[in-house]
Amino acid sequence: MLGKLFGKKQAATVPAEQVGTSETKPRRRKSHSKESGKAKKEVWTIDQFQVPAVEGKTRFHDLGLDDRLMHGIADLGFEYCSPIQAGVLPQTLQGHDAIGKAQTGTGKTAAFLVTIINDLLNHPVEEERYAGEPRALVIAPTRELVVQIGEDARLLTKHTGLTVATLIGGMDYQKQLNQLKGSLVDIVVASPGRLLDFQSRKDLYLDRIEFLVIDEADRMLDMGFIPQVRRIVRSTPRREDRQTLLFSATFTPEVISLTEQWTYEPFKLEIEPESVATDTVDQKVYIVSTDEKYKLLRNIIKQPEVTSAIVFANRRDQTRKLYERLQKAGIRCGILSGEVPQNKRTSTLKSFKDGRLQVLVATDVAGRGIHVDGISHVVNYTLPEDPEDYVHRIGRTGRAGAKGTSISFACEDDAFLLGPLEELLGAKINCEQPPEELLN
Ligand code: AMP
Repeated sequence: MLGKLFGKKQAATVPAEQVGTSETKPRRRKSHSKESGKAKKEVWTIDQFQVPAVEGKTRFHDLGLDDRLMHGIADLGFEYCSPIQAGVLPQTLQGHDAIGKAQTGTGKTAAFLVTIINDLLNHPVEEERYAGEPRALVIAPTRELVVQIGEDARLLTKHTGLTVATLIGGMDYQKQLNQLKGSLVDIVVASPGRLLDFQSRKDLYLDRIEFLVIDEADRMLDMGFIPQVRRIVRSTPRREDRQTLLFSATFTPEVISLTEQWTYEPFKLEIEPESVATDTVDQKVYIVSTDEKYKLLRNIIKQPEVTSAIVFANRRDQTRKLYERLQKAGIRCGILSGEVPQNKRTSTLKSFKDGRLQVLVATDVAGRGIHVDGISHVVNYTLPEDPEDYVHRIGRTGRAGAKGTSISFACEDDAFLLGPLEELLGAKINCEQPPEELLN
């Protein structure tokens, strides 16, 4: 540890003010002071982000967050905290460690990012800092997850002057290194293997880490990453001197043992996965031939009770085609899928929330982000291959105690998926012919 520290002082001798050269387009460290956040053209104020108080719901406004962070939250269109955010943020914002039992789709990413960003803004570092010395580290098991967390972190820090670097295996090392060399870095999001590469090449030092987030700890275990994560954790400050947040969808004895070693008097929170039988959703399955599906969808959407609907399809190309056809037919619709850039997805979601779009066509992954109350209908244009996705999909409607309807199309290509679905639901699914008028 001492040797490592010593090595660092030699390797990273670039003080904050001198980071970068004229070749590397120096980006001077931006000051983290309140004044600079309001500098020049920054005219945004919290008045532009009005969210009415609603009993039983927590607004981000209620948490005393820095305005620069609130600006990012407003851009993302988040209004009320998800249950995990409402449960965990009051604790973590006070500096407590936390263990969250939660799956993807619960909003856990924003829960830990908001904690980190708000604290980094509240406590700017006054003394000299070094390149390659982040203040917060998030480790996640897969590339996709690291990229997703990195994107979320960039969006949330957009107006703060804080910087984010993403380190993942299988991609150009040098390019990733440039993120660390060109300017001071505040938040590093990484997969374990690549992070260790950076550490062993003395391009990254973790002894100034104030925040450590371990995401999807159970998957790290499954994927055999724990020895690597152990080494990483050991190179950060003692658990009493850092804030540690650990998330896992399941808590096996092994995961529990890790949480005991890595966290300090943690706050524990469990977010129940969405219940399987959503009793506020009226579930229908229509037997329909492949070539009648589109007509049926059009007619369903035209019904007056379908005020706000999400149409799910399994693949991106299917969502794109559906979206194009519905748009041509004059239906106010938007699309959410992996091929749509994040900022476009955010604005589409906002239009949907605001009621400017009647229909959203989405894939499962993109659809997880939809936390909108008041969706009247979910249509499964194709049945999901994973029955769990069915539960996620229909859970988009019937929220907050309201009634919702889900309509699934089963055609000759995918009716075989109904069996596993019935198994998961523990009930027989009644399939019916769609009413005649919906096929005309
Ligand atoms: P996660 O569980 O972190 O993967 O988040 C799932 C999705 O929920 C992401 O697309 C987030 O952008 C979105 N999200 C997170 N928090 C909120 C919130 N408070 N309101 C609306 N959407 C949210």
